[in-house]
Amino acid sequence: MRPSDGMDEIRITAPVPGTCPVCATKHDERDPHDRDSLYYQNQFFKANKRFPSWWDAMGHCTDMTKAVWAEKLKKRGIILEAPAKGGQDGQ
Ligand SMILES: [Zn+2]
Repeated sequence: MRPSDGMDEIRITAPVPGTCPVCATKHDERDPHDRDSLYYQNQFFKANKRFPSWWDAMGHCTDMTKAVWAEKLKKRGIILEAPAKGGQDGQ
């Protein structure tokens, strides 16, 4: 991170045509949103008062896709916690 960046406001990049309207990242619509996208985190936080987990990012994916991504993330050293069940906000 460059020192000069710290003084500026974080710039949230809005989705542009050809990118996902949810996370402003270019990805296959069947794949998870980019959980690390600042735009996604910002929008998600506004709506849910918490930051998104990978399970949130994969909410629209099939179980097959979720399993594949859970493995991919595991290989990157990211172990997914058990998926949050619906209606258990606040914890
Ligand atoms: Zn997305």
